[in-house]
Amino acid sequence: MVKSLSGKALTYYNEFMEQIRRKNPNEPEFLQAVEEVAQTVSPYIIENPHYQKAKILERIAEPERIISFRVPWIDDKGEFQINRGYRIQMNSAIGPYKGGLRFHPSVTQSVLKFLAFEQVFKNSLTTLPMGGGKGGADFDPKGKSDNEVMRFCQSFMSELFRHINSDNDVPAGDIGVGGREVGYMFGQYKRLKNEFTGVLTGKGLDFGGSLIRPEATGYGNVYFSVEALNAHKMDIKGQVCVVSGSGNVAQYTVEKLIELGAKPVTLSDSGGFIYDPEGFDSDKLAFVMDLKNVKRGRISEYAKKYKKAKYTEGKTPWGVKCDLAYPSATQNELHGDDAKELIKNGCKGVFEGANMPSTPDAIEAFIKAKIIFAPGKASNAGGVATSGLEMSQNSLRLSWSREEVDQRLQNIMRSIHTSCVKYGTEKGFVNYVRGANIAGFVKVANAMLGQGLV
Ligand code: NDP
Repeated sequence: MVKSLSGKALTYYNEFMEQIRRKNPNEPEFLQAVEEVAQTVSPYIIENPHYQKAKILERIAEPERIISFRVPWIDDKGEFQINRGYRIQMNSAIGPYKGGLRFHPSVTQSVLKFLAFEQVFKNSLTTLPMGGGKGGADFDPKGKSDNEVMRFCQSFMSELFRHINSDNDVPAGDIGVGGREVGYMFGQYKRLKNEFTGVLTGKGLDFGGSLIRPEATGYGNVYFSVEALNAHKMDIKGQVCVVSGSGNVAQYTVEKLIELGAKPVTLSDSGGFIYDPEGFDSDKLAFVMDLKNVKRGRISEYAKKYKKAKYTEGKTPWGVKCDLAYPSATQNELHGDDAKELIKNGCKGVFEGANMPSTPDAIEAFIKAKIIFAPGKASNAGGVATSGLEMSQNSLRLSWSREEVDQRLQNIMRSIHTSCVKYGTEKGFVNYVRGANIAGFVKVANAMLGQGLV
């Protein structure tokens, strides 16, 4: 995409990126995320020089605060274990830091900085008053007992609690952090601070959680895709959909696709993917949810239960012929070659449920082919938006009905789509990447200008 820059925008971009590369060596994921935003936002900054003068993008790319800490815990065999925990408090211009916690062995400062940077723009798009943050640890919950997970979560919170509260930083879940982990962390926070507040979102329904929060990222992505398809005079009904991942986001993407009459045919995990040519139905999805959420098993077991399905080890599902794709596992899971394969097979739209699942090559291919490409910061924003609604309910000490939260989620996804179209339409084509980046940037940038140099 950098090829599309010229003149002052190209000079600005090159100078900006040179500084960012120098300051953040060995952080490839963070550099990738910043590059993508800088490429689309640079021309806009040149057209609006007050942002350039105030060095707004330079300030957004510098975390307000990075907290890194030791997380010691004891496993079931009595052995000492040491992990590294983080919280990146990226930007608080429009509200308290907000963003999930990820527990996965691949977690590094670079990964969390990329996620926190993306979160700033995403949260701005939601229309709600939330700044951007992200955190986590290089802890692998896979294969750990409930007690081990609880001891880890308690140790993690025993340090994090001094840096967060319901008015300055409100974490949530992400990869490896679901309702179980949020519950354990909330319990420890309450015990240490002796206060019951909305300091975490994604909580259990019995202690301040919001209806629809578990479903929100997947549902929101499908709502976004419905908006985009409608805008392109297409219907979701009957569309064959390829979904990756089999965690929270993937499961509820599939649930909503089934409900709206689409035909989801794949799911995956880090071992490989399953393809069910008959498509999933609610019984099959219930099997997957029990397998992944209760038994904590592998997706390969699906193909043992449903004989018409096929499991392919060590591969991603992008070679399966489809109309729509919903990458919902992790970053950089969809490469340039995968994108070409999807396009060749007639895919008409890609809606990112995960954060940054498509590599820059893949994004370039989608945009060149002029298919609908919705970047995660727009299409997966329903999760954090509903976290924002959980914060509102906690502050009000009220719980809204399922219908009310779902309606608000749908309205937010519609509004995000409208913002992308507003800033991303060029010669009749909606470049959702540009639209999301500029729309997300403008609100944060204006708030930063209003607050002076802080
Ligand atoms: P989960 O932990 O519930 O599920 C993650 C899924 O992705 C699992 O199937 C996992 O397989 C797979 N996966 C994880 N890492 C890899 C990897 N390196 N290679 C292949 N597969 C992998 O996480 P979520 O569903 O919550 O999150 C999925 C994505 O969505 C992430 O990018 C996250 O940042 C993003 N997201 C999540 C939100 C939420 O509300 N939860 C909100 C917005 C974005 P395995 O079990 O084998 O590890």
